[in-house]
Amino acid sequence: MISDNEIFMKGMMGLKTAGLLRGMSWESTLEYYRIMNEEVKERLGGSHSTKLLMYSFDFKEIEDLQHAGKWKELTAEMVSKASNLKAAGADFIVICTNTMHLMASDIENETGLKVVHIAEATGEEIVKKGLRKVGLLGTRFTMEGDFYREIIKNKYGVEVIIPEEADRKIVHDIIYNELVKGIITQESKEKYVATIDKLSDRGAEGVILGCTEIPLLIKQDDVDIVVFDTTAIHSKAAVAYALNGDDGND
Ligand code: GLU
Repeated sequence: MISDNEIFMKGMMGLKTAGLLRGMSWESTLEYYRIMNEEVKERLGGSHSTKLLMYSFDFKEIEDLQHAGKWKELTAEMVSKASNLKAAGADFIVICTNTMHLMASDIENETGLKVVHIAEATGEEIVKKGLRKVGLLGTRFTMEGDFYREIIKNKYGVEVIIPEEADRKIVHDIIYNELVKGIITQESKEKYVATIDKLSDRGAEGVILGCTEIPLLIKQDDVDIVVFDTTAIHSKAAVAYALNGDDGND
């Protein structure tokens, strides 16, 4: 923990303000708000808390556009709301979902603001743990697209494997039919654990919970390999950037 004097010296009155694109879904958004505040309290102590602005989407509209493949429209929408956050005073952007990092570079290029990237923050954690091969669970868009796996592989040298098609469908459907609606069941937990066990049998030393609602279902104690909770990792990276202008990444 740093002293109030150090906080003053570091210009903490200028503690950076995060601009959060949220509500994808609101179930995980709550976790971001809680973890970011806990992290600021942990680092600064006392009654310090996080500075943020947010735009919270109606997830049904986002989900429909995603499943209709309307990524151009989604990109325009994310860029527009990120620009509004900038105009309102945000110093950097946090996209509170793995999937919508698909347009992270568009947001960065169009707004000129730093996007604290969830895959980079996660890659950093995997490297810290010294793992070389991990499994990735998330929406079909995150598991099957290049935008996420390539960062972990190319920037951090970590091999990423994904479940077989049938299991990818199960993982994706549970996210959209249950987790984003706040439905957490033992049956779905068992399906996820079985999928993680198969990834482990294929050599994964850890598993990225690459959808911000999955940590509501799966905890470290549920499985034998190392779990990477992207909601917690990303929230903490956002606070690190707000404090130091550094999220540990380039
Ligand atoms: N929160 C999820 C994620 O981290 C899924 C919601 C979305 O599609 O944005 O990918």
